[in-house]
Amino acid sequence: MGKDVDRILDLLEARSPERASPGTALGREPSWERTPFTMLVSTVISQRNRDEVTYEASQRLFSRWPDAASMSLASVDEIDAEIVKVNFHVGKARAIREIARIVSGDLGGRVPSDLDGLMSLPMVGRKTATCVQCFAFGMDVVCVDTHVHRISNRIGLVSTKTPEETENELMRVVPPGRRGTLNEILVRFGQEVCRPVGPRHEKCPLRDLCDSYPR
Ligand code: SF4
Repeated sequence: MGKDVDRILDLLEARSPERASPGTALGREPSWERTPFTMLVSTVISQRNRDEVTYEASQRLFSRWPDAASMSLASVDEIDAEIVKVNFHVGKARAIREIARIVSGDLGGRVPSDLDGLMSLPMVGRKTATCVQCFAFGMDVVCVDTHVHRISNRIGLVSTKTPEETENELMRVVPPGRRGTLNEILVRFGQEVCRPVGPRHEKCPLRDLCDSYPR
């Protein structure tokens, strides 16, 4: 029998009304204006990076250049100096400068909301694109990162090998209207309870519903 997805999501939402999202680092509200452009750049910075480092780098970057037009005038070296603690900062600085240039120039100041448009930008793969669709445009799509992939498989919502398969399966099993918030809910849950190593089964509200709870 399939899982009661609504009940699982209800329990997770009740556990953690505050949610994590790219650049906000565990409930901290960003000090910069949240626009599609800043959400996109923060999400690029967040790739293979800790939330705290993403937050600090985003804060430094957007305090100097709050939008695509101003950032497009910065040099790659200037951008790199603000994100130097970020993993792969040199490549990301180049990509961010190029994104700013494309958005402020070719795209007339608008970040695209469709997958193809987003994925045509430097360092924007499927995961980053779907996160931007969720967080910047409020679209009802599943954004699968390492937490979402791991937890969905542990619970038994899906049985998949890759994040791409997980995205397809979750789009099938999660009811419309609840897909866009899945990432926010599961990221925090994955940091605090269903951790990659040493999941805290005894503290978990999903004990009775999870395939991986030790019985
Ligand atoms: S019971 Fe354990 S494995 Fe299952 S969701 Fe909770 S913490 Fe994760």
